[in-house]
Amino acid sequence: MPELRELPYCPHCGAKAFHAGDFKPWYCDECDFKLYPNIAAAAGVFVLDAEGRILLTERAHEPSKGKLGLPGGFLEAGETAETGLVREVEEEVGIQIINVNYLCSAPNRYAFGGINYNTLDLFYVANAASKSARIDPAEVAAVHWKLLDEIQPEELAFQSFHHAFQELRRYLSSSD
Ligand SMILES: [Zn+2]
Repeated sequence: MPELRELPYCPHCGAKAFHAGDFKPWYCDECDFKLYPNIAAAAGVFVLDAEGRILLTERAHEPSKGKLGLPGGFLEAGETAETGLVREVEEEVGIQIINVNYLCSAPNRYAFGGINYNTLDLFYVANAASKSARIDPAEVAAVHWKLLDEIQPEELAFQSFHHAFQELRRYLSSSD
């Protein structure tokens, strides 16, 4: 899987005089084009039911096919994280969410379309307005409602989830 920083040609003029690396910005000697390889923003949400169970999605595709994810995804230009989550939860599992509140953030790496992206994942907590899920089979294989203590760390799809679950545990214990 190539790193984004292995881009060999200038995306503006096509010259091979393109310097892409860990430093910012990447630049082209031929046309002075500069590219800022910023992280991508993504958001995920812990949707809770009235008994405190968490909605988990079983991922239908790589990366992390078969592992447990959260509803959410990459944010689109011009939308807030909260708006993006309402949209993603509706698309993926057909559930309306209310009381969307920010929890924490964590960096992640996400392999998509043959590129490894650096992301910043924003995590939220929300309540389910109903539990009748209508899943999108293109994205989600199944949904599971689990209590926090029923979730094993090795089931989780992404590294950033480990930090988010720790923060969720603190959030839930402080709101008892
Ligand atoms: Zn160039």
